[in-house]
Amino acid sequence: MSHIRLTVLADDTVSARSARGEHGLCFHIEAGERRLLFDTGQGLVLADNARALGVDLGAVDTVVLSHGHYDHTGGLPTVLAAARAPVVVHLHPDALQPKYHGARAIGLPPAARDALNATTCRLLLSREPGEVAPGLFRTGEIPRRHAEETPEEIFHLDPEGQNPDPLLDDQSLFLSTPQGTVVLLGCAHAGVVNILDHVRRLTDNRPVRAVLGGLHLGAASAVRLQWTLDSLRRIAPRLLVPMHCTGPGAIAALWHEFPDACRPGGAGAVFDF
Ligand SMILES: [Zn+2]
Ligand SMILES: [Zn+2]
Repeated sequence: MSHIRLTVLADDTVSARSARGEHGLCFHIEAGERRLLFDTGQGLVLADNARALGVDLGAVDTVVLSHGHYDHTGGLPTVLAAARAPVVVHLHPDALQPKYHGARAIGLPPAARDALNATTCRLLLSREPGEVAPGLFRTGEIPRRHAEETPEEIFHLDPEGQNPDPLLDDQSLFLSTPQGTVVLLGCAHAGVVNILDHVRRLTDNRPVRAVLGGLHLGAASAVRLQWTLDSLRRIAPRLLVPMHCTGPGAIAALWHEFPDACRPGGAGAVFDF
């Protein structure tokens, strides 16, 4: 497929002097004539960072949301307000469920929920893998095959904490290049190894060239972290960009184990494939 440029529009850190940080994640993707977003961040920095980094949000034709948490979906109103033409929004149906961390609501903010009804929004709900632009695919729901990746941190569907949220909405985006597959993670709530193994099944076991995004390992036990490092050595991506919710201890461990593969993310970072 043709040249792809990824620009980080939101992350917990910054790598461009003109960019601002927030707890959130958003990638802008240029693929031929197509302009896509993978996640939208919280929405606190999206418009300013797009302007500062020379990204035209009005040209975005497609948004793929990794899951329903506010730090990935809160920028939807900004995107849809800027849109000059209808925007296709890909979402797993469970992303619309109420979501809680303790008593705190962390699902789609009300304004993002309203934005899904905007005349510029073409909502596409699916649990399945699918092509979202030529050569760009969403994974759909991720099978949870590795018991090692059972989440330590429990999210719920209710503020009382009665019903655990299995976060089945968690999905990733991937694209094929001649050197292997590039995988974008949201928070990897499904487990990064579950995700990468699923992507390999969907791509005839092609090598994974790059992994960028949140690995959500801040609460991971030492055993899980070591198992994850061992599994990543097996999968052997040549580029590893741990971002957003990965957690400082896990980021340090990844940089220590894979010094040649790791690169910093941060708002303003650009990656060409
Ligand atoms: Zn999340
Ligand atoms: Zn997140």
